This record gives sequence, structure tokens and C-alpha cells, in this order.
Amino acid sequence: MEGLVRATHSMQAASRDNETVGSYQVERYTARQARNKAVKIALGTLLVAVASIILPGIHFVSVPLGVLASPFIGAYYYRSLNGAPKSMTGDFVCPDCHAANQVSAPRVSAYYETRCVQCQHEIRLTPL
Ligand SMILES: [Zn+2]
Repeated sequence: MEGLVRATHSMQAASRDNETVGSYQVERYTARQARNKAVKIALGTLLVAVASIILPGIHFVSVPLGVLASPFIGAYYYRSLNGAPKSMTGDFVCPDCHAANQVSAPRVSAYYETRCVQCQHEIRLTPL
């Protein structure tokens, strides 16, 4: 796919008694994806600020504040998203029954716990 940043790493798949080595891929936000998301968030802020004009009292503050803040909010999101991990997918063979497993997680963390699709044993995945 265009613009996708992927790298394959090794991970350990461990059940209570055995362990195998599998691989995982981390998908990261590209500059374009980060920009698209940041623009959406900035426009959303702008929209909320403009919509708050119907609120009596606070719109004197909320409208100018939101309009002024929206580019900064967009820039902040762009900076924090660009290159940040987006999701994780992993492939491993179950240490107990040797069934092929595939997992995907919306977030990347230090470890990930899952169950084998076949034997239902608990498996802990740790990056190597
Ligand atoms: Zn299994």
C-alpha cells in the first residue's frame, strides 16, 4: 500500500510451558496520514467553536478561543502522530499445539496476551 511504513520484528510467544518465536509488524502513521488527521481535528475544533455561537454568555470566549486555538491543536496532533505507532499485527505458531495464529492489536504495548485459536491456551507475546 502507498505510503505505509512497515517493519518486521521478532517476538516471543510463550505459553505456561513452552515458547516459540514469531514475528510482528508495526504500522506507523505516515506524514500524510498524520496531516489528514490533524486537519480533521483542527477543522472539528473550528466547527465546534463556530457552533458555540448559539450558546449565550460563553460564546464571547469560546468562539475566538476556538478559532485561535484550532491551528495550534492541528499542529500538536500532527507532531504527535507523525511516525507514531498506529497498529500491530503478529504471526506465531502456538507453543503447545503448533497451530498458526495471527493477532492484530489497535495499540502497541510492551506485551500482548491472547489465546491460541485452536487449543485456547493463554499465550503472552513479548517483543524480542
Ligand atoms: Zn494452541
